[in-house]
Amino acid sequence: MSELLLEYEEATSTCTRCPLAATRTQVVFGSGDPSADLMFVGEAPGFHEDKNGIPFVGQAGKLLETLLNGIGLSRSDVYIANVLKCRPPGNRDPQPEEIEACESHLFHQIELIRPTLVATLGNFATKLLSGKPTGITRVHGVAQQVTLGGNAVTLYPLYHPAAALYTRSMLSVLEEDFRRIPELLGLTTIVPEPVSFELEPEPEPERQLEPAVQLGLF
Ligand code: URA
Repeated sequence: MSELLLEYEEATSTCTRCPLAATRTQVVFGSGDPSADLMFVGEAPGFHEDKNGIPFVGQAGKLLETLLNGIGLSRSDVYIANVLKCRPPGNRDPQPEEIEACESHLFHQIELIRPTLVATLGNFATKLLSGKPTGITRVHGVAQQVTLGGNAVTLYPLYHPAAALYTRSMLSVLEEDFRRIPELLGLTTIVPEPVSFELEPEPEPERQLEPAVQLGLF
């Protein structure tokens, strides 16, 4: 299946389905294990992701990695993608037309990867993949059964790591929700003691410009 995923990544690299094609540096398709059981879906590439072509490489990505390490996993064990494959200028919220134009890329990715557990990070991914308008504050940490890409999948909504970078209480909730992932994956891994993530005084430049609430992160 990984060859089909590579082929699809190649095909997507020239996508012009929405106006973000004109302002992006490159399409940020996704990265990680093409046959991962656990897939994370974030919102959209930011400044660093647009430059590097890899999702979650900025501050939010560092936190995601720390959280993964805390449950005995690393980036290479999972697959990471976003609702939008191209960066919205200035890291503004994804627009409904952009999500509509891009969503079939994500659905096809899920169909090819066939994860058993999809952890949505923040409101945009959660609403799109649950098909419901209920916000992340109400549904985080609650596993739901859904059908994605023709397969039965456990959907597990989580706060967006970028939001947790700003609010210590949210970081604690995110850490707590993360600790249920091994159980949801059917792993018997002994989860190490929580690894504390030092909130840094300097978050990603772009994300720093607007409060997380306005970014629609929770
Ligand atoms: N936030 C996202 O939602 N995705 C990224 O790739 C980086 C930050």
